[in-house]
Amino acid sequence: MIVKDFNKQRILTVNEVANLVKKLPKSHFRGIQSILYKPAIELRAMDIPVPLNCKGGFYAEYRSIIIHDLQSRTMSEHIIFHEIGHYVFHTVIGSYLRKEWTTKLFPQRNFITDYARLNPHEDFAESYAVYMCEPERLARIPAKFQFMKNRVFTIV
Ligand SMILES: [Zn+2]
Repeated sequence: MIVKDFNKQRILTVNEVANLVKKLPKSHFRGIQSILYKPAIELRAMDIPVPLNCKGGFYAEYRSIIIHDLQSRTMSEHIIFHEIGHYVFHTVIGSYLRKEWTTKLFPQRNFITDYARLNPHEDFAESYAVYMCEPERLARIPAKFQFMKNRVFTIV
């Protein structure tokens, strides 16, 4: 996996991004081609539509994570794990676990952030990011914490 273009901003270095990724089980990022930094304005200039206020995305067609907006270190770490969480939900955990999250955990309507309320995908990505950045906070929602710990992070 390639991490690149983070020299265009000053919040996180390439090495720091690579070290964040190394904290994860290998299966969680093995299929990701690259993680790169590119402001939304540059993508729009290439006719790639990026929604307003979008801070990053997993671009399945490029198998890449593109980070658009980095402000603080804490927020940046959350965004990077959030986007990897999307990849993990789509590709790594498989349809059985995906269905369990969508039909059992999401409908409990116990959310770690407001953004997680949007749909099961964002709920998973937000929970995944908080599990990595502030596990003790996700532990307040035991079902989601246990799901991450015992079902998702056991996939190595
Ligand atoms: Zn998202």
